[in-house]
Amino acid sequence: MPLDNAYSVCPHDCPSTCALEVERLDERTVGRIHGARDNPYTAGVVCAKVARYAERQHHPLRLSTPLLRTGEKGAGFDAFKPISWDDALDRVAEEFMRAVQRYGSETVWPFYYAGTMGLVQRDGINRLRYALKYSRQHSTFCVTLADAGWNAGTGVKRGVSPLEIADSDLVIVWGGNPVSTQVNVMTHITKARRERGAKFVVVDPYRTPTAEAADIHLMPKPGTDGAVACGVMHVLFKEGFADRAYLAKYTSDAAALEAHLATRTPEWAEAISGVPAAEIADFARLYGRTKKSFLRVGYGFSRSRNGAAQLFAVTCLPAVTGAWQHKGGGALFANAGIYGVDRTLIEGLDVLDPGTRIFDQSRIGPVLTGDKRDLGDGPPVTALLIQNTNPMVVAPETLSVREGFRRSDLFTCVHEQFMTETAAMADVVLPATTFLEHDDIYTGGGHTFLQIARKVVEPYAEARTNHYVITDLARRLGAQHRGFGMTEMEIIAESLRLSGLPGPDSFYQGRWIDRTLPFETAHFLDGFGHADKRFHFKADWASLGPLHHELPALPDHVDIIDKADAEHPFRMMAPPARSFLNSTFNNTPSGVAREGKPSVLIHPDDLTALGLATGDRVRLGNRLGSVVVNAKSFDGLQRGVLVVEGIWPNAAYEEGLGINVLISADPGRPNGGGVFHDTAVWARAA
Ligand code: SF4
Repeated sequence: MPLDNAYSVCPHDCPSTCALEVERLDERTVGRIHGARDNPYTAGVVCAKVARYAERQHHPLRLSTPLLRTGEKGAGFDAFKPISWDDALDRVAEEFMRAVQRYGSETVWPFYYAGTMGLVQRDGINRLRYALKYSRQHSTFCVTLADAGWNAGTGVKRGVSPLEIADSDLVIVWGGNPVSTQVNVMTHITKARRERGAKFVVVDPYRTPTAEAADIHLMPKPGTDGAVACGVMHVLFKEGFADRAYLAKYTSDAAALEAHLATRTPEWAEAISGVPAAEIADFARLYGRTKKSFLRVGYGFSRSRNGAAQLFAVTCLPAVTGAWQHKGGGALFANAGIYGVDRTLIEGLDVLDPGTRIFDQSRIGPVLTGDKRDLGDGPPVTALLIQNTNPMVVAPETLSVREGFRRSDLFTCVHEQFMTETAAMADVVLPATTFLEHDDIYTGGGHTFLQIARKVVEPYAEARTNHYVITDLARRLGAQHRGFGMTEMEIIAESLRLSGLPGPDSFYQGRWIDRTLPFETAHFLDGFGHADKRFHFKADWASLGPLHHELPALPDHVDIIDKADAEHPFRMMAPPARSFLNSTFNNTPSGVAREGKPSVLIHPDDLTALGLATGDRVRLGNRLGSVVVNAKSFDGLQRGVLVVEGIWPNAAYEEGLGINVLISADPGRPNGGGVFHDTAVWARAA
């Protein structure tokens, strides 16, 4: 029998940022977690991973006390002994000061990502970084490529409220798998289908559970979505579906786009993408004649060297048909641009020295192994502070990441909830709170609610918050910033005040405010984000990142991917599995049990050609290394395409090496970004 229901917010790396109702069994124990019924976006629904979060929250393997390494790096719990918090933080501070004395402040690299998405607990590490002039981080694991692609056309990172999906007659999920990764989107799609008879289209290189639920599934080869989008736009212009009045009023370079697309026929797109020309043309006609068409743009197809260009090409569709003008029409990629939270205090932006060096986080392997392309003439990284991420598993080029972490001259402190593979490489491990044990504020990329969540239960054992670690290290290291003297709630309240937003007491039940924009603004009818207020069909890539040279201005298929060749005949993707989301959930046994073991989906004809059958061991490889997985025959992808769903712990693989061994740390264009779905490999019997 629950003591009461408490409210919280899901902190995981998922655009839904669900409003939660938590069964609180006592002051230390939670029961089942539900979606908040009174939040119009969450609407009472959460994914199974978080519904059973109690399993993770109260897992016996959660870290309970600070640990000091006494044995081999990577050897797990046995290589550590418990120490006190004071001794642990003293040790970290001493090591950082020693490293700085020898190499200067940039030898320390605080490293974090999206294990929690709360602004205070996630981003506070930057305040310590900036106050002490440590090396900066270009955060490229997830959104960088998609951001560049979206901003190229629209000029600002926002779109139509997802609640308008329910008003739509045609919903397209392009490059996303919400059934597995963002279940709430399906709530609103289901409503549109049930109440309006809306059609549902999915564009994805393999038949995901979301594609299975769709009326139409277009299945391009990975890295060819830009070609499909151009083929669709060719038909829109040729068959009279382009809204000429809208184009004239709201866009620039429409004539150049139309002329450019004359040769981008559906047949041209078929030759590149493998999607039959007739399917491209049929979809174009459906899209063209449906005014209320809602395009939900996912991240998947941006994780490619040409990913920003692909996403840009797709964003051009509603600008050609003028779908933006209609309720239930337009597009949404992410709504980060609507919240307006001033992050100066949270991140210490007022003490940032732009002269300090900045590393691409996806290149942590090359950085730690001393690659001159990253280090230049600067000092090596000899000290790391890691919060909220597990680069030993999630970063590209696992072999170089592992080699880097093994360096005997590298001191690593990891603040974590579990003994992840990264924590196992650390010298000092600190136990971290979960979102249920601390206060924070959350923006939601997939909706419009700014939410505050307060602590629901007391921290487990000796677990402490990210904010505690940052402020206590700041004190020991002599870092100066007023944020180090404030509580989480004080930082939240002050940041809201600085932003001109209502204070926490004005939030609905202290929980959220709705930042939905007026219709005209959300639909860009009062102008897009560029200075000229127009949607740009010619991207100014140079303004979006330094690696812009290979990207053409007009939407196109950009042939800079890791193409299949005689030696590497397969193109491989590595999307998330349903039970994992990212590596966060692969510490809990039920998720691992549900997913079975690491497998590769292979077209039945390819499997036969390889002389293999379902269940056989298959080795996948390229110039970076090789991994062994289990073969699974699957006809929901094109020949020559492989899908390895993850993200599994490396230890779940036969040789202790996971799929990111094969993923390149090459930056996507124009501004970096992990290219997790852009890999050519060979496959053979293991
Ligand atoms: S759907 Fe996403 S935001 Fe909602 S509970 Fe699951 S992981 Fe969290």
